[in-house]
Amino acid sequence: MQYHQVIIVGGGLAGLRAAVAVNEMNIQACVISRVHPLRSHTVAAQGGINAPLGNHPRGRYDTWEKHAYDTIKGSDFLADQDAVIKMTQEASTRIIEMEHWGCPFNRTTEGKIAQRPFGGAGFPRTCYVADTTGHALLHTLYEQIIRFQQAAERRELVLCPEWLVTALVVEGDECRGVIAMDMTSGKQEAFLGEAVIFATGGAGRLYANTTNALIKTGMGMAVPYWAGIPLKDIEFIQFHPTTLFGKNILISEGARGEGGYLINNKGERFLANYPDSRKAMEIAPRDIIARNMTREIQEGRGFDSAYLHLDLRHLGAERILSKLHGIRTICLDFAGIDPITDPIPVQPGQHYTMGGIDCNTACETRLRGFYAAGEAACVSVHGANRLGGNSLLETLVFGQIAGENAAKYVQGKAETSQGQRSLDETLKTAEGKVDRLLKSEGRESPSRIKTELSNLMVQKAGIFRDAAGLKTALQGIKTLQERYRNIGLDHRGRRWNTALHSTLELEGSLDVAEAVVTGALAREESRGSHYRTDFPKRDDEKWFRHTLAFYSKEGPRLEYCEVRPGPFKLEERKY
Ligand SMILES: Cc1cc2nc3c(=O)[nH]c(=O)nc-3n(C[C@H](O)[C@H](O)[C@H](O)COP(=O)(O)OP(=O)(O)OC[C@H]3O[C@@H](n4cnc5c(N)ncnc54)[C@H](O)[C@@H]3O)c2cc1C
Repeated sequence: MQYHQVIIVGGGLAGLRAAVAVNEMNIQACVISRVHPLRSHTVAAQGGINAPLGNHPRGRYDTWEKHAYDTIKGSDFLADQDAVIKMTQEASTRIIEMEHWGCPFNRTTEGKIAQRPFGGAGFPRTCYVADTTGHALLHTLYEQIIRFQQAAERRELVLCPEWLVTALVVEGDECRGVIAMDMTSGKQEAFLGEAVIFATGGAGRLYANTTNALIKTGMGMAVPYWAGIPLKDIEFIQFHPTTLFGKNILISEGARGEGGYLINNKGERFLANYPDSRKAMEIAPRDIIARNMTREIQEGRGFDSAYLHLDLRHLGAERILSKLHGIRTICLDFAGIDPITDPIPVQPGQHYTMGGIDCNTACETRLRGFYAAGEAACVSVHGANRLGGNSLLETLVFGQIAGENAAKYVQGKAETSQGQRSLDETLKTAEGKVDRLLKSEGRESPSRIKTELSNLMVQKAGIFRDAAGLKTALQGIKTLQERYRNIGLDHRGRRWNTALHSTLELEGSLDVAEAVVTGALAREESRGSHYRTDFPKRDDEKWFRHTLAFYSKEGPRLEYCEVRPGPFKLEERKY
């Protein structure tokens, strides 16, 4: 057994920012991560991070109030206003902190942090490092972790890369640790702690057409869900308008922010033909563009009935090479085309999980000592639709808050063996699960179940949804859950058994997918990313509320809670 005062699960931007905050409060901590922290999905973030710095002439009167209003409007009013206000008020501080730690942001000619149009502001608010912003931010924060680890006066900060957390240890109403598998040996071990923070990222791999890394299976949401913590607003899934056709690698909104055009097979900038995207065109909110692109393709104005063109050619080689070099490399490597001379074939794809582990603006959940931050959490800053550039911001703001509050909770607590019994029991159950999988003579293949699940989610719980499709999806998931019980692994060894790891994660994917579909079927309205063709209007009377999905063996049990209002009045979404 290992003991750490604070256990942080997740080595992405949220987890590392939490680790820095815990260390700054002089509390000992460990960071457990399924991959090396620098391989977390944050590293793939491209376009940028929002803050109302007002460094661009067109954004010089920007304020946190404007940023908050845009975020709430973008969320189709489902975001909690206190959470949004906290995030936008802290945004500039967190960005300048990253600048001081050495993040190489692009600069204006006067040497200030440059900003680009992105994420629905209508003017430049997004700070960026070319089109590799996540890479730069994550490496900057990781350097701080190394610095703290090496400073003699600092408390111990341990990194445990390549450990998979499989269960939460709960004693009474308190979280006491986690069970994790050392992926190298395949052995599970108990981690006892005074507080646990989950910063495990999103669940994009529930969908076949996603921009998300392979590790984003939803397991990090399933573990607390199984332990009784609800998933909030989990039915809200963001589809990004521009992913590389056939590969679904993200082509950043930054490409449109820099001035790229979306073109149909008639050579038209077709967004002008739709009332909701006519004004903002290529920088309209993502849900609107993704739906209008899908309509274009369905009505026969796509190329090969499958994709549209993102045209950057008019931007010129110099701008593409300096601001969008990552996009150009992706196009060259994965599609054999050069955006300097060719349009990019694009199609919408799954991109982000707005919902997640239910927590408040202090990142506390209903389980004492258990905190959540980043994409895994639902503090509720994104509501029904996230603005581009707000997710990286959320990870820094709420990662810091989670770390500080967990450290405060732990301060003064003596190390106790309390929780030992739950720890032993949870470890035994987790071991039993692995033993059964390794010994199973079942004939079902985990990869086949995973493929079927992710295709089903695209077809029946995707950009356009209706009751019949969602019922089919729910039935399909139930059947896959049954088949999961009859799974057999081809390889039964314990050392680096990737089939075993992904099979453990698949159980989480199935249960989180079931929660997504159950929430979507119940929500009989269209709001943000959740578009029901059978209920195409937003219905504030009935549905201006958050969904809470609680785990039960029979399937998710839904409850609802109020959206926290604030100074911004509920409005129709204006375009
Ligand atoms: C291609 C792409 C581009 C993006 N571009 C932008 C952008 O320009 N601007 C923006 O604001 N947002 C962007 N986003 C979204 C943003 O990058 C993510 O939401 C954000 O980085 C998530 O950070 P995180 O720390 O919450 O999680 P992640 O970075 O996903 O990290 C999750 C961590 O949890 C660990 N983990 C998960 N489950 C377990 C487990 N069971 N046991 C142990 N460890 C576990 C993983 O190892 C990992 O370290 C983009 C996303 C993608 C996919």
